[in-house]
Amino acid sequence: MRLLAVFAHPDDESFFCGGTLAWCASMGHSVYLVCATRGEQGEIRHPDIDPGRYPKGEARGRLRQAELEAACQVLGLKPPIFLGYQDSGYPLEVAQANPRGLIHQSLEEVEEAVLEQIVRLRPHVVIGFDPKGYYGHPDHIHLHRATLGAFWRAGNRMDEPPRRLFFPVRPRERVARTRFDPDRYGVSSDSIAVRVDVRPHAQTIRAALLAHRSQIGPEEGFERILEDWPGLLEEECFALGGLRGAFPKEPLDLLAGL
Ligand SMILES: [Zn+2]
Repeated sequence: MRLLAVFAHPDDESFFCGGTLAWCASMGHSVYLVCATRGEQGEIRHPDIDPGRYPKGEARGRLRQAELEAACQVLGLKPPIFLGYQDSGYPLEVAQANPRGLIHQSLEEVEEAVLEQIVRLRPHVVIGFDPKGYYGHPDHIHLHRATLGAFWRAGNRMDEPPRRLFFPVRPRERVARTRFDPDRYGVSSDSIAVRVDVRPHAQTIRAALLAHRSQIGPEEGFERILEDWPGLLEEECFALGGLRGAFPKEPLDLLAGL
């Protein structure tokens, strides 16, 4: 089986569904990751990394590319595929003021770039952003639209287009324990199609996140990350974003019945 995750920045994959990707890879499936940007606008949160050495833009993107390559190795994924767009930055006002950013690129062009990867990699299942972009990052929302469009249009381009599209989501009660608005970024439990127990992969998720050294900071600070991301090492949840063919008779799962 082949699975493709489509995300916007290095570290999205480990935060939003690292355990699920690691689990699929450990089962022998081919797991691909498309990353739209190199995270050129990410803040550096590690005291041993001098931000002056890696200014925002090219240099920071190269640093984060190397971190993502390391994280993919930890998770058991194929080497990441970059679409070559630029990180818009966060929050929205920053992104709007950055004309080179992903959100200013035509949706049709980004959709076509994602579709090309779907046609080339022939995934059975695609994982991508939900309409709220997990926590509202403008690049995530732009890529949601592109991925959803590419998933559907794949039916016109391929004999065997992907069968299922899933969005990583967070239950609202979990979002309520963070600084984010649960009404905006959480989903009700009946909106969740699949829950994956990722506790067997907790150490892998942790190691993959720590590979994003500039973003996560030193290992000693990892407990603070867990406070901001409750449930990170326990359970990953997915809403159904798209389905091709008949609804499966057995309870819906990521890969079962394909
Ligand atoms: Zn992101």
